[in-house]
Amino acid sequence: MNVESQPTNQIVGIDLGLKYFIADNKGNIEPSPQFYRKSEKQLNRANRKKSQKFSKEKKKAHARQSNNYYKARNRYARKHLKVSRQRKEYCKRLAYSVIQSNDLVAYEDLNVKGLVHNRHLAKSISDAGWYTFREWLEYFGHKYGKVTIAVPPHNTSQNCSNCGEKVKKSLSTRTHVCPHCGYLEDRDINAAINILRLGLSTVGHTGTYATGDLPSWAVGRGLLSNGESVNVESPSL
Ligand SMILES: [Zn+2]
Repeated sequence: MNVESQPTNQIVGIDLGLKYFIADNKGNIEPSPQFYRKSEKQLNRANRKKSQKFSKEKKKAHARQSNNYYKARNRYARKHLKVSRQRKEYCKRLAYSVIQSNDLVAYEDLNVKGLVHNRHLAKSISDAGWYTFREWLEYFGHKYGKVTIAVPPHNTSQNCSNCGEKVKKSLSTRTHVCPHCGYLEDRDINAAINILRLGLSTVGHTGTYATGDLPSWAVGRGLLSNGESVNVESPSL
């Protein structure tokens, strides 16, 4: 199902972050909502109550647990559901607004499952809900006829978006300072610019020179050195 929408003349590159949920190449930053962390205390409390009401003896005897246990289990499950609904709503709303305000959206093709295996980052990443965000982004992109491009995340945060040189930095280095060209930018914005550029380079070309082979006569012709175009049929040439 496609829905007609007006071109916005805007393109955007998006960096998924832990400090922020997303940062774009224009410097817009969407703070991380951290739904899970915020409700963690409540969830843990509900989980403890549930465990306290669980009887191992009854389980051994294949008997039914107490009503209070089932109530506590239910409360715990409802709290979990609430958190996951909040996250889903947040991702959906944000993806919708990104798609509505851009014609092309480039973002990292993150292997979120692979990342979650790293226990250090696991909680933050599953809390972030990037995967859900991406799913909605692609869904709305398809629905509203916008271009969505997942780019390989290699070195997007390391490379200088100004000169292309690799500038090594650890996760805790928040600012990109390029020793090669002197470019200074927020780490995530620098990455988002790289992501947008990568995205644009992979969109490809359609039309007469779709294969990328420009005939030799076309290169540099039709333009004077001052950038004005000339009529190739002009008799003076
Ligand atoms: Zn540089």
